[in-house]
Amino acid sequence: MEELKPCPFCGREISIDVRDEEGNLRNEKYLNDPWSGVSFSISHPLLGNLNCPIANHDGEQVGCLLFDSKEKLAECWNHRAAENSEGAGKHPTTPEG
Ligand SMILES: [Zn+2]
Repeated sequence: MEELKPCPFCGREISIDVRDEEGNLRNEKYLNDPWSGVSFSISHPLLGNLNCPIANHDGEQVGCLLFDSKEKLAECWNHRAAENSEGAGKHPTTPEG
């Protein structure tokens, strides 16, 4: 699996929560017997990160988005993180000559 990039807003490491299909929080052991379906969500530390826009999402947890697999989650998250961090320092290329 790809490694998760840190939060593009506050730089904190994020992790993955295991949930059932309805979004109820489970633990890793649940994956051995996922009788109620499996989904994954992003877990962002809230404490000390109240200025981070995604950590402090109207009192909701960041895990409002559920993914079918950890791979999908990582892919989606990393794509977002890259967009946010790479966009800042780049300037348009100018043709030479
Ligand atoms: Zn953050």
